[in-house]
Amino acid sequence: MTAMQNKLFINGEFVDARSGKTFATINPATEEKITDVASAGAEDVDAAVRAARAQMEPGSEWQKMKPRDRAKIMWRIADMLTARAEEIGRIETIDNGKPIFESQFVDTPAAAECLYYFAGWSGKVTGETIPVADNAFTYTLREPLGVVGAITPWNFPLMLAVWKIAPALACGNTVISKPASNTSLSLLKFAEYARECGLPAGVLNVIPGGGSVVGNAMVDHPGIDAIAFTGSSEVGRALMARAASTLKKVSLELGGKSPNIVLADADLDAASRGALNAIFYGKGEVCAAGSRLLVEDSVHDALMEKVIERAGKMVAADPLHPKTRLGAIVSKDQMETVLRYIESGKSEGAKLVAGGERADIGTGKGYFLKPTIFDDVQPEMKIAREEIFGPVLATLRFKDADDAVVKANATVYGLAAAVWTRDVSKAHRVARAVKAGTVWVNTYNLYDPALPFGGFKESGFGRDQGRDALEKYTQTKSVWVNL
Ligand code: NAP
Repeated sequence: MTAMQNKLFINGEFVDARSGKTFATINPATEEKITDVASAGAEDVDAAVRAARAQMEPGSEWQKMKPRDRAKIMWRIADMLTARAEEIGRIETIDNGKPIFESQFVDTPAAAECLYYFAGWSGKVTGETIPVADNAFTYTLREPLGVVGAITPWNFPLMLAVWKIAPALACGNTVISKPASNTSLSLLKFAEYARECGLPAGVLNVIPGGGSVVGNAMVDHPGIDAIAFTGSSEVGRALMARAASTLKKVSLELGGKSPNIVLADADLDAASRGALNAIFYGKGEVCAAGSRLLVEDSVHDALMEKVIERAGKMVAADPLHPKTRLGAIVSKDQMETVLRYIESGKSEGAKLVAGGERADIGTGKGYFLKPTIFDDVQPEMKIAREEIFGPVLATLRFKDADDAVVKANATVYGLAAAVWTRDVSKAHRVARAVKAGTVWVNTYNLYDPALPFGGFKESGFGRDQGRDALEKYTQTKSVWVNL
């Protein structure tokens, strides 16, 4: 069994919560307890803030370090993640239920790539000289924000936390990271690696614990300068309102109900593969999941035949088996939420054409669901409007590209979208017209640290990844020198 960290990581040490409290974390594939994790309270948040603030003081090790030396540490952490992808991937899989194929070969490498990418920015985030008057020398400085509080969800526990930690560190901030309670273990392991790679004590602190307790304490704490949040729109909304009292800078990466549009001239084989990848990758617990399949009338039957046939071949299995592509839903609660949505789809009259129930992988244990597809879904149905965050696809029809765009945009969300077509100009027209932060053409679920990721509308604001993320973790100072 891989050695795990289950204590809070504050000021470079793994410590118990001040209160001594812990919470159990469960393996969703076996329903067994993995370990008890220290559960932070307000006083632990305070200790983490003291440690993180100390490294923001002039003369501290972190502030004195040259940006290129920060980059070297980040690079070393990325190398270590790469070398130990099996170890940390296994921890992620046991905690989250996602296939080891994903955690070891997709999420962990993606986290490493994010660190490599932002290490490259360290020292390249610059101000400018801006001439305004003959008797003045005027320029800007791009300074770190200070202490960044990162609050992240359970679907990509390591990767989404690193999406915040990497740019924040590259810009010279310090970080207090709160992982989701369901899945704290990979980030604690990451902290161990970061320490081993020479990240100074206090620069990164990881404090698992209940969302409303730790989250509220972080949002309220005057020693935290900004909150970078990824999670549900519901929590994001409450967090933003609460942050008003300290006027913290807030960035929100929230939910989605992303449309995956198949036009009549698409390569239907590729589109059907893409439709499955869009919704069943990561068990559908993906903020950008293509959970609404929009199909042009004339190819509806042909496409659905392929989609249903492929879905029938997707079988949930032991997440630790290297061939598994569909793992366990993260928790009993989440599985029950998804099952309620399936019931609502049935009762509102959508046609269930695949799955719709729990799956048994032969052990009689675990929170597994069959890949589920509804056809003949109407736009007003709950399963067409609300984020389910599970392996459930809602299929709707449209009559032409304009109708597709209207239907695609008929949502409060705007995180991602895709369009499948062989017509180049239609592809670009739809890409422009759809209100979403990412649009894929003839593909789905591709990400790169160099490309900004984030939402339009109620999917949030601020961008993770890419040069845009640097905006989130710096502030501009204008300097006037009288000549
Ligand atoms: P969630 O319930 O909103 O939780 C997200 C994080 O917020 C967790 O760490 C949670 O802690 C914490 N939290 C809960 N209540 C809080 C509060 N009152 N104040 C501060 N923090 C609080 O979301 P989730 O169920 O973990 O994740 C699923 C959601 O994340 C989906 O809506 C999904 O679309 C979204 N998501 C968005 C993106 C994106 O980039 N846009 C990416 C991935 C996921 P606990 O775990 O302890 O409750």
